[in-house]
Amino acid sequence: MRLPPVAPVLLAALLWPAAGPAQGATRLAREVLAEMVSQRTTTEGSTTPLAESLAARFRAAGFPAEDVLLLGAGTEDRNLVVRLRGRDRTRPPRLFGAHLDVVGAEPPLWSADPWTLTERDGVLYGRGVQDDKGPAASLVAAFLTLQADGVVPAGDLLLMLTAGEESGKNNGVDWLVTNRPDLTRAEFAIIADAGGGEMVAGAPVAFSVQSAEKIYLDVTLTARGPGGHSSVPNGPSPIDRLARAISAVGAFTFPVTLNPVAREFLRARATMTPGAQGAAMAAIARDPSDAAAARTLSADPALNALLRTTCIVSLVSGGTAPNAIPAEATANVNCRVIPGTEPDSVVATLRRLAAPAQVEVTVAYPARPSPPSVLPAVLRTAITESLAATVGPVPIIPFMEMGATDGVYLRNLGIPTFGVIGLFTADAELRTMHGNDERVTAAAYDRSVEFMLQLVRRLAR
Ligand SMILES: [Zn+2]
Repeated sequence: MRLPPVAPVLLAALLWPAAGPAQGATRLAREVLAEMVSQRTTTEGSTTPLAESLAARFRAAGFPAEDVLLLGAGTEDRNLVVRLRGRDRTRPPRLFGAHLDVVGAEPPLWSADPWTLTERDGVLYGRGVQDDKGPAASLVAAFLTLQADGVVPAGDLLLMLTAGEESGKNNGVDWLVTNRPDLTRAEFAIIADAGGGEMVAGAPVAFSVQSAEKIYLDVTLTARGPGGHSSVPNGPSPIDRLARAISAVGAFTFPVTLNPVAREFLRARATMTPGAQGAAMAAIARDPSDAAAARTLSADPALNALLRTTCIVSLVSGGTAPNAIPAEATANVNCRVIPGTEPDSVVATLRRLAAPAQVEVTVAYPARPSPPSVLPAVLRTAITESLAATVGPVPIIPFMEMGATDGVYLRNLGIPTFGVIGLFTADAELRTMHGNDERVTAAAYDRSVEFMLQLVRRLAR
C-alpha cells in the first residue's frame, strides 16, 4: 500500500513535530543504527556478524531467503545484498548502497563510548553515525518500511551493504562488480556515502549530489646514471636530473577542463558566493575559456582542483650512501585527472616535461576511467520532492569529488552513480567524521531517515 500523495508542507508538518519521540521509520533506523555502532567493523574487526544479523532482520521481516544474500571475498568481509522484488523483473534494478565498515576509534579521546550509540543533549554520538552507518541504517529502515507497507516497486530495488571501503582491503563493491555483475547492473546507483546537505547558521542552504570523481593516477619518474664515488663527480647525477624533472612538473599547470558536472556546480554556487569569486564562477560557467575568471578561481586550491587535472610529486627516493653517487633516483607523481580527459595524454605531458632531464616516465598505478554521471530527470525530481517534504525547498548541486569513492567501480561499468546522503550537517560536525566524537544532531539524523524513506519510496514507482 502506497502513501497517498500529500502536499509537501502538510507532510513536513505531519512528520516533523518540533519535539517528541522518534516514530516509525526513524525509530527503526535508530534501533538499527545502535546495533551497527555496537559492532566493531574496523579493519581489525569484521563486517560479517553485522551483515548476518541484518540478514536475519530482513528475513524475519518477510524477505524471501533467496533475496537476502551474504557474499564476499573473505569470511571476515561479508557483504549483504537485499532485493525488494518489483512487478516487472525485466526492468534494470535501481541500486542503493552504503558501507558497513568504519575506521577505528580511540575511546580515551572520546566524550562517549564510540561503540555505543549515545544521545546527549539532542546529539547522537558513535563511530559511523556519519560515515557510513547512519546512512546505511536509513537505507535499511527504508527497505524494511516499504516491505512492511506492502509496496511492490515497478522494478527491483537492490540494497547493497558492503565491506572494505575504508581500508580498501576486500572492497565489497569491487568484489560484487567483478563476481556478481548480475547484482550491480543497475539503471542507476545511489551510494549513501557522499554528498549531503549544507547548513549555514542553522538553516539548510544547499544539497550536494556527488556525480563525478576525479581519476587517480600514479606515475614514476626514474633517473639513471653510472653511479660512482662521490669524491669524483661525473656530471649531473640522477638526483640532479630528477630534481630538474620535479621542478618542471611542479611549475606546470594543466589547462582548464570543465566537465558538465563542474560547470553546473559553478553555475549553482555562483549565486551563493559573494564578491569576485562568485562573479568568476558565473563567468567561467558561461565561458570556460575565460582566462581572468580561471585565474581568480585558481587562487583557491579546492576550486583549482575542480577546474583542471592536477599532478604533484608525493614521494622521492634516491641514493644508497653518503659517499656514493646514486645510480638511480625515483619520484612518485600523484595525478588527479578530470573525468573525460584521456589519462594517456596526462602521461604524455609528464614525459614531455621530464624529457629534457633524461628522466623516464612510467605508469605505477593506472587510471580507472570514471565518466561523470548526469542526473536522470526521474532522480532529480525524486530528490527535489523528498527534500521539499522533509527539510523544505533546497537547491540541488551536483559536484565532483576530488578523492575517490566506491562510485568509481560502478561508473567504470557505465552505471550512472550518485552520492546521496540526507544528512544536513554544519562544518563543525563534518570535521568529526573519521575523528573523535563523531556526531550528528538527532533531529538532522531523523530527518535524513525520513528523506531516504521518501526517496526510496518515490524511486519504487
Ligand atoms: Zn564512507
